[in-house]
Amino acid sequence: MTEKHPETLEFKSELRQVLEIITHSLYTHREVFLRELISNASDAIDRLRFRSLSDSSLVSSDPDWKIRLVPDRGAGTLTILDNGIGMSAAEAVENLGTIAKSGTKSFLKSLAEVDAKTRPELIGQFGVGFYSAFMVADRVTVVSKSAEAGHEAVQWESDGLGTFTVGPSEREARGTAVTLHLKEDAREFLDTWRLKQLVKQYSDFVEHPIVMEVERPAGEAGAEGSTTRVEETLNSQKALWLKSKSEVSEEDAASFYRQVSGDFEKPAKVIHYAGEGTTEFKVLLFIPSRMPLEMRFGETKVGPRLYIRRVLVMEHCEALLPPWLRFVKGVVDCPDLPLNVSRETVQKNPILDRIRKNVVKNVLRALEDLRRESAETFATFFRELGPVLKEGIARDAEHREAIADLLLFESVKTEAGKTTTLAEYVAAMPGEQSDIWTLSGESRPAIENAPVLEAFKAKGWDVLLLTDPIDEFVLPQLREYKGKLLKAADQDELPEAIAKQEETADEARFRPLLLAFASWIEGVKEVRLSQRLRQSASCLVAGEGAIGANMERILRRAGHAAEVPETGRILELNAHHPAVEALRAVHEKTPDDPRLKECSQLLYEQALIAEGSRVKDPAAMAGRINDLLVRDLGR
Ligand code: ADP
Repeated sequence: MTEKHPETLEFKSELRQVLEIITHSLYTHREVFLRELISNASDAIDRLRFRSLSDSSLVSSDPDWKIRLVPDRGAGTLTILDNGIGMSAAEAVENLGTIAKSGTKSFLKSLAEVDAKTRPELIGQFGVGFYSAFMVADRVTVVSKSAEAGHEAVQWESDGLGTFTVGPSEREARGTAVTLHLKEDAREFLDTWRLKQLVKQYSDFVEHPIVMEVERPAGEAGAEGSTTRVEETLNSQKALWLKSKSEVSEEDAASFYRQVSGDFEKPAKVIHYAGEGTTEFKVLLFIPSRMPLEMRFGETKVGPRLYIRRVLVMEHCEALLPPWLRFVKGVVDCPDLPLNVSRETVQKNPILDRIRKNVVKNVLRALEDLRRESAETFATFFRELGPVLKEGIARDAEHREAIADLLLFESVKTEAGKTTTLAEYVAAMPGEQSDIWTLSGESRPAIENAPVLEAFKAKGWDVLLLTDPIDEFVLPQLREYKGKLLKAADQDELPEAIAKQEETADEARFRPLLLAFASWIEGVKEVRLSQRLRQSASCLVAGEGAIGANMERILRRAGHAAEVPETGRILELNAHHPAVEALRAVHEKTPDDPRLKECSQLLYEQALIAEGSRVKDPAAMAGRINDLLVRDLGR
């Protein structure tokens, strides 16, 4: 028989990069390593417990699930032990020597984009949790034995620098022991008091007992000052979602949220209730106060954790929440489901379907409550996650209206940074206004003084300023709100109540100029007198069926320039503007004056600039302006 020796293997190069960063540049919040290792231990137990439901040979009838912390001052090590599913030698190489490439990429990219304080939060989000051990240890030894029959125990060891070793080991019981040889400056993690405090802070709701031997004063029988060692359970293991709402304190809920989300902040709203009726279920969900990190950088997994009678069966149950509510985190427990549900059967399960409907309704209601009760918190939430929520308008006709109630917009009448809802907008509409008017653009300053708004402002009608690019795509799907149509202020149509009625005399006087104008300007389908301008000389509007300037910009930027239709846009001139009148007078006297063409081009170009579009040939435009300057000021 040949003696097996440990084999030395190299980490995959992406992983080396991740390790390099973890060991050398993550210093703050190093304590999260404990949360990550406990979470892995708990997952390992969950996995074995779940598997043993269908394969009773895997565990004894009373398995006594446990996670054990063993600090050893003498050796300078901290060991985290579990009696979960364990790993075979091949699994150890696979699981602890490689990470998904996509995970590494997003991890590295995100690290660069967040501040130092937020970095450790990222660790848990990208499947690199185990490697956080190297923030506090200069060597990590893993001894594991798979719960499956036929596997010997394995020892994995690494200093986190470039290689690791794998070889046979002695271990009778299934499960895993992760031993951290702590760095000199990380000896605080040998302190039982510190470990207790960290478990409370980060892992209190882990379902399985986390135990540690601690010293207690010996009972009366013992000598004065003597101690005994007893095993203490450090976490409360409360399945908060099974309790009634009144039994759960705000701090407990917030702390549970931090554990399920990895977020360090408080949630914006807690949704906690029990569903009754034909199906009973418990819900404990959270609306985050800002965009979750994995949504900013990684691949977002949709859906809450699914428990069946306290057994975790799915980390992300997509059947319970639509993608436009992917920021919602938490737990749903449905005792009525069969324990052997799988990802495939879950999708068309009628019980889950009913629960999903109920959950979505309650999440929307919670958002509505948040909006009414804590305007500021909701505004912050909406700034970050409004664009995600809005996807629901396009994708989910059933909830379109409820989502519309939640939308916030800046408008001509709100102060910069302040918003109005559609309901508030409609309530403030003057009697003669029958539609909701909007204008889209890149930012408030870019559109709030747009010439197309002049008529609306003169009449005191408010206009919503749509500055989120997704508005252009989702608002057309909404079409109306409470029976009022949503209309774009830069479209051809102008309500009679605010249009300035030109005298027919004007029309007749300007006709020759308008005709000539149309022949000089390329790219517009019509030139006409405006009924909407008050101060400005010219503006552009979209003809029927044509797309607006903002949409055109969005398409171009997204690389769809070829799909942008040759514009069917209309140039409007203000008959009462002195520049337009001057042009008319010159044209009447000398229709072939060469300055006319140049000046009309300038009127077109200022309309383009005013709506935020690009002038085709800026140098030519500068030349035209300089000609005017010279004419005005002399040589
Ligand atoms: P993640 O847990 O997000 O997948 P980690 O880097 O924390 O990423 O762990 C990598 C893998 O190593 C896990 O997916 C799991 O398969 C395995 N693993 C880690 N810790 C344990 C453990 N205590 N018992 C069994 N397997 C483990």
